[in-house]
Amino acid sequence: MRCKRCRGPAVVEVRRHNAAFCKECFPGVFTEQVRKAIRRFEMFGRDDRVLVAVSGGKDSLALWDVLLDLGYDATGLYLGLGIGEYSDRSHDATEAFARERGAELRVVDLADEYGYDIPTAGREGSRSTCAVCGLSKRYAFNAAALDGDFDVIATGHNLDDEAATLLGNTLRWNTDFIARQSPLLPGRDGFVKKVKPLHRLSELETAAFAFLRGIDYVVEECPLVAGNTQLRYKEAMNAIEATSPGTKAQFFLGYLDRGMPLFAQDDVVLRPCESCGHPTTGRFCAFCRARAQVLDRRLEGPGIEEVPDEDRDVARSLSDEVMPVEIYGRTT
Ligand code: SF4
Ligand SMILES: [Zn+2]
Ligand SMILES: [Zn+2]
Repeated sequence: MRCKRCRGPAVVEVRRHNAAFCKECFPGVFTEQVRKAIRRFEMFGRDDRVLVAVSGGKDSLALWDVLLDLGYDATGLYLGLGIGEYSDRSHDATEAFARERGAELRVVDLADEYGYDIPTAGREGSRSTCAVCGLSKRYAFNAAALDGDFDVIATGHNLDDEAATLLGNTLRWNTDFIARQSPLLPGRDGFVKKVKPLHRLSELETAAFAFLRGIDYVVEECPLVAGNTQLRYKEAMNAIEATSPGTKAQFFLGYLDRGMPLFAQDDVVLRPCESCGHPTTGRFCAFCRARAQVLDRRLEGPGIEEVPDEDRDVARSLSDEVMPVEIYGRTT
């Protein structure tokens, strides 16, 4: 195999483009795809302060690396989930990367800040561990971005993540979630703008980029991943991709071009959560409700007698990349 750009020996094959690249050219090709995503969706500009949610894995560190390289004002945010040694190693990887690149890293610890860790949430809550983890991450990222006065939150979701989520939502015809599965969610009413600049790049391409750039990332998976339904959709997409290269890209990028406009909805009306002040459609946001349940205590607020029953609208207001069964599948 020869590099499509320079005809040198190729090390990365991108089957959906029927192309291969050498180790010198591939990082540039990868970066170009990120630039294209940022440009097309007008994700952020040179003057914006970008908060990059970094987990210590390949995707988020690759994203941070590219944004720093392109000269963006990109600060990392690591959220400590309290998942034993896995979290310790993930934290170390983000600290090491920040040190090496001379970049700023902010650290928020879920237990210190909100009173619970993810293994506890998995045991005590009615939702699956991954559902409450996803909810906690979205809430904590938004809170940190508001707190630090950032213009935008960038996450490392790649093409495989987005195709798997779209497949899950399509199989259940969760039209609200399908409508919101955009690489850019504009900021509004207490929600900071959110972007996914890696959405055009596959997991394999991100891994190749991280390897070629010498990024020291955590390879092991989260030990709590077993119940994650998105993993099953990823496996299904991979099985199709193996025999029909390009299916993932056609499915997700085709959705962005032709499908998303069909699902567009009027925006829901948001108001402040009576407990924490974050935007929600009901009295309490999904995070406060989940947290109250995990901590086994009532929501604080004037005149509140009991934790409200399951309120799907509330959860919807915070769920922008969604594994719906995990969030709504079990009732309290
Ligand atoms: S696998 Fe589940 S519990 Fe682990 S980090 Fe991901 S969402 Fe959280
Ligand atoms: Zn080359
Ligand atoms: Zn709240």
